[in-house]
Amino acid sequence: MSWKVNVLTIYPEMFPGPLSESLSGKALEKGIWSLKVLNIRDYGLGKHSEVDDKPYGGGPGMIMRADVLDMAIKEGLEKTEDDLPLVYLSPKGRLLNQKTVNSFAQGKGVSIICGHFEGIDQRILEVYNIEEISIGDYILSGGEIASMVFLDSIVRTLPGVIGNTHSVVEESLENNLLEYPHYTKPQNFKGMDVPDVLLSGDHEAIRKWRSQKSLEITKKQRPELLKNKKD
Ligand code: SAH
Repeated sequence: MSWKVNVLTIYPEMFPGPLSESLSGKALEKGIWSLKVLNIRDYGLGKHSEVDDKPYGGGPGMIMRADVLDMAIKEGLEKTEDDLPLVYLSPKGRLLNQKTVNSFAQGKGVSIICGHFEGIDQRILEVYNIEEISIGDYILSGGEIASMVFLDSIVRTLPGVIGNTHSVVEESLENNLLEYPHYTKPQNFKGMDVPDVLLSGDHEAIRKWRSQKSLEITKKQRPELLKNKKD
């Protein structure tokens, strides 16, 4: 069974976009995950298929209408009968992290609403009990790129996507540590040698060196991660 994705967007031609390349693209071809893209504009109002309007109370920009999104969810999503969690990518959401990525990967899939303009009508979030997820503390112009980031991070962890599951287990942010530095050929580059221990063939010494480096890098770059580290 594929890990299922439904995307509601006003820019359907943006998908699968970069997700059709590399790991996620191969996984899509293999059917490890599947993608259905629904155009919110198909549920727009009037001659111009309007999807947005001015905010009550004034202020800049436009808001995506509750009735249009409601139709798109009812007609577009609920008919697929997938019964997947509904997510709205938004800077007001819970910050995405590897734990959330892994927990979505354990599920059957996800349906995503891509916001635009100033966002979507609050009542849609409440009626459908939508989970809001942010990909970081900055503002993008739309939810499409955010949803690609979200999906790429999940898809690469699905069984069969990355050959060597070790590479996922040891990665940055698993167990709240950043990854140790990597080296490959040439052995000497611009006068800089590969650390001796990595050439020693001593697996235990290499493991120790890497875990020491992981700790050092995490302390320097992201000390707050160590506070949440469980061991
Ligand atoms: N006025 C809103 C920002 C709207 S940005 C606010 O201040 O909260 C337009 C759309 O881009 C949003 O509806 C959301 O879907 C998407 N978006 C922007 N930044 C994002 C982020 N950091 N994470 C996830 N989605 C984001």
